[in-house]
Amino acid sequence: MTLADTEYPSCPKHEACMISLSLEVPAVIVPYGTVELFRCANLSCPVFYVRGVSEGFYTATPSGTLMNGVR
Ligand SMILES: [Zn+2]
Repeated sequence: MTLADTEYPSCPKHEACMISLSLEVPAVIVPYGTVELFRCANLSCPVFYVRGVSEGFYTATPSGTLMNGVR
């Protein structure tokens, strides 16, 4: 699932708007070609959204790797 560039992603678990994160000091290891990174506004939620080459929803592991999909 991908979104239009103007659309803000919302977390599929919480149906909450996601917040944009800086890519200069990313909180997680982002996939190659990432242009924009979002995370759930609920900070205990591991769901991220990547905009770019590997666009889509990801779940962060405790080590900071993003796994494709929402689990
Ligand atoms: Zn969430």
